[in-house]
Formats: sequence, structure tokens, C-alpha cells
Amino acid sequence: MKLPRIGRVKVHDPMDTLTDRLADGRARLLGATVSRTACRWFVSFTVEVELAVPAGPTRRQRTGGTVGVDLGVKHLAVFSTGETVENPKHLAGSLRRLRTASRAYARSKPGSAGRRKHAARIARIHGRIAHQRRDGLHKLTTRLAQSHEVVVVEDLHVAGMVRNRRLARAVSDTGMAEVRRQLAYKTAWYGSTLIIADRWYPSSKTCSGCGWRNPSLPLSDRMFTCPSCGLVADRDLNAAVNLRNLVAASTSETRNARGADRKTRASGQVAAKREPGTATADQTGSASPQGEAA
Ligand SMILES: [Zn+2]
Repeated sequence: MKLPRIGRVKVHDPMDTLTDRLADGRARLLGATVSRTACRWFVSFTVEVELAVPAGPTRRQRTGGTVGVDLGVKHLAVFSTGETVENPKHLAGSLRRLRTASRAYARSKPGSAGRRKHAARIARIHGRIAHQRRDGLHKLTTRLAQSHEVVVVEDLHVAGMVRNRRLARAVSDTGMAEVRRQLAYKTAWYGSTLIIADRWYPSSKTCSGCGWRNPSLPLSDRMFTCPSCGLVADRDLNAAVNLRNLVAASTSETRNARGADRKTRASGQVAAKREPGTATADQTGSASPQGEAA
């Protein structure tokens, strides 16, 4: 049997902390799974790590308070701070190659060797795209969980439906589900809090300046214009600011007498729900590839 040549080894997060811990026994390797997708090999390790309470330094490094995050397809995300996070650098190139490869496949003769070759190529590009996306999501969620006290994202569906229908809604939906999943465990690791806005909260249609609601916001409108207070803002940024405001309002009310699950609704405000298991800073998680950043 011909063994696969090992090319590049790529990991999502810096590995030093983990390898140090494995070396001196503060982490235990439980198992490894080898898989293969479209001619590439993957190894994933299950590791048991004692996760310390996120300590002072992580807190101090955290410059951001509450951040609203609008997840998109065209851009990976827009923050309420005004920052736009682009899709991974090489993604556009892969999508272009995919189109070329698909055309070549369509032109090839059914059953021919050429068609099989093109099919394999398409599968390879698809695998690559999936990994580039995932890599981008991991970088995004790690950064958010490490640098902000509270991260607010939208629930599934709504954003996907309101936005770009043409660009596979499935893509944005699965992307958002993945972002939520990653944020849920990473905020627990790093001692920040994840809040998911109510799924019917119209973050795109509400004016972040005065709260006026646009009854119909055409999909093509990239800008939000408010006839009530005159605000003109990028549509995604407006949505992100709304997400941040949503929680800023409800947490400032509850900060003083905070029972873990108690939340007071700001008047007329849609409730934001706290993800179970992500709410506390003094929680001890069970497994982290990095451990605490201290
Ligand atoms: Zn307004």
C-alpha cells in the first residue's frame, strides 16, 4: 500500500501551550481520529485539560466590553465597533477555481476518464473551501471570545432570510450555526459571555439611533436610512449596533442584582437569551486545547 505523502501540517490554534502541558502531564491525550476527505488527511485529537478559571491577565487583555456581531456572507462579520472582518483571503480564489472546474466537468464526456478527473478536482476544491471557511470562523470566534466581555449574535435564520438569497442561504445558516457552537465553548473557556438575540428581533430593520422600525427593507438596500432621526448607516453595521444595544440595555438593568438566570426586559425590548453554560466567568470548563491564556 502506498502511504500518503505528508505535506503541510496545519492547526487552528497555537499549539505551544498544549504541547507544554502534554509534556509535563497537565494534559492527557485520550485518543486520535484519522479521517480523509477529498484526498486530504486529517487527524483530530481528544485531549483532557484541566482548565483554570480565566485569570487576571485575560481580563486585563480584554479591551472590548459588549460587542454586537452581524454575520454575513459577503463579509464574514461586521462588528458594532464598525470593524468589518473579511472572508478568508484565499476563499475567492477557490470559488473561482470551482466555477472553472465545474464548467470543465460539464463539457467532459459522461463516463470518460476526463470526467472522473474533473469530478475528483471538484471534490478537492469543495473540501478546500470548507476548510478555508472553518479556519476563518475559528479565528473570528477565538478573537471575539478573548477580547470582549459580552458577545451578542443573532439567532439563526433571520439574518439569512433577510439577506442575500442568491448566495446559498444554507451556507450562511451553517456558518452561523458553527459560529454559535464555537462561541458557546470558547466564551466558557475565556470567561466571557455569549448572548443570542431572540430570533424575531428585527436587528436589520430597526434604526440603531432612535428605534424606528422600517416595515419593509428591500434585500438590495445596503444602507439603512432612517426618516425619523436621519441616521444613514451601513445595513450590517446598523444591525450589529442594534444587537449590542439590545444587551447593553438589559444587562445594565440586571447588573446590580444579578441572579444567574434572571433577566429584566428593558421596556419594549425583545429578550436576549443567555446560552446555557456560557454565562459565568468563574465556570470551570473541562477541555481546552489551549488552556487558559495566563
Ligand atoms: Zn432613527
